[in-house]
Amino acid sequence: MGGHYNRRRRHEHPLYFMNESRTLIERDLAVLWHPCTQMKDHESLPLVPIRRGQGVWLEDFDGKRYLDAVSSWWVNLFGHANPRINAGIKTQLDQLEHVLLAGFSHEPVVELSERLLKMAPPGLARCFYADNGSSAVEVALKMSFHYWKNIGQPNKTRYINLANSYHGETLGALAVGDVSLYKDTYQPLLLEPITVASPDCYHRESGESCAEYSQRMFADMERTLEQYAHEACAVIVEPLVQCAGHMRMYDPVYLGLLREACDRHGVHLIADEIAVGFGRTGTLFACEQANITPDFMCLSKGLTGGYLPLSVVLTTAQVYEAFYDDYARLTAFLHSHSYTGNPLACAAALATLDIFAQDDVLGRNRELATLMKNLSAPLTGHAHVAEVRQTGMIVAIEMVQDKASRQAYPWQARRGLKVYQHALQRGVLLRPLGNVVYFMPPYVISDDEVKLMIEVAGEGIDIATD
Ligand code: PMP
Repeated sequence: MGGHYNRRRRHEHPLYFMNESRTLIERDLAVLWHPCTQMKDHESLPLVPIRRGQGVWLEDFDGKRYLDAVSSWWVNLFGHANPRINAGIKTQLDQLEHVLLAGFSHEPVVELSERLLKMAPPGLARCFYADNGSSAVEVALKMSFHYWKNIGQPNKTRYINLANSYHGETLGALAVGDVSLYKDTYQPLLLEPITVASPDCYHRESGESCAEYSQRMFADMERTLEQYAHEACAVIVEPLVQCAGHMRMYDPVYLGLLREACDRHGVHLIADEIAVGFGRTGTLFACEQANITPDFMCLSKGLTGGYLPLSVVLTTAQVYEAFYDDYARLTAFLHSHSYTGNPLACAAALATLDIFAQDDVLGRNRELATLMKNLSAPLTGHAHVAEVRQTGMIVAIEMVQDKASRQAYPWQARRGLKVYQHALQRGVLLRPLGNVVYFMPPYVISDDEVKLMIEVAGEGIDIATD
């Protein structure tokens, strides 16, 4: 590989990076197994090794740049290599990289917990940490069951979930999700949730508002709670947007009704804000739009600004107190992950919260959301677009084979992949979910970058639906 260049000069030569990239791809494909990927696809679909990131841009080894319109799987909030988050991590690095959180503590995790509880919906009083979203969901599921057991109701062993929901890939989280592509294979291994129809407004009747539809769909939840409350620990939902379930959206009215019904039936409410928390839906947390406090709120992804793996479950004093007793009574929550509350990740999270405190992030997001709305509006007229929907900083475009009947393209046609390939060539990273093209960009995106992102998506949709 480029062996004829001398050491110093070869790094300046454009061919060096191209060769470097090719070599990296070969080395990668010899040893790695990538997430959520049929590896055989890479016989025809090139991997994209990234050399560095800056703001909304990722740069490959040829110097080609890609606008990260999906925030690297919805984690990045304030851009790659954000100087403020970098500084927070660097300072922490010289102080303490990690210490176990059982029996020990450290300042970043204490400060982060204090600040999260101040920002979160009122009534949440305790933070339990893990290191990824799925693990946070596992914690919430186990804690809810264990709470009921500790207070003398061990018969509550089941979970109620929504159709088309997604909560992660570990077995418990996968079980309470409902995206068949990820779940069906593992069905024999999984807990059986009680699945309720989704309030997803894509299915509303013409002339019916999203709020009316979501409210109407609550009837199924009410019936289910009536029937199963005696054996159900919790209802788990993704507030407002079912992200992995094709960015389907519903009205906050549903969450208000759900909170009230869970209270009435004695069932916990778990809000999985892993994808929608930290300003994604227009408010800091999606639950705020319904003015509710869940019994458990799961956070991850944007928590560290997209830098390091960290997750947290916020819960109430009532839940905490049901575990608080003499050791011999064996009521403690004996759950742990090695990297729980990692100080570097907490430092990244604190720097992220500083940005929220110092900048008018939600105000700028409102401007960006309006711009995205205006620029994507013409796509509603596209012959193969059934709907352009939006909640705050998430915009989704549903491609269909037949606009009038909304008949979907068969999944085998992989129309979304065509959009991905076109966009990549044009320097935009879009990663459609099936036939749904969506934007979920970092909040530091500029107006011009929004224009580029939507223009390229429009071209990709034209090509994919041709
Ligand atoms: N819940 C939701 C709502 C998610 O979107 C995701 C990740 N896409 C998860 C849970 C799982 O998080 P992780 O990938 O960090 O395990």
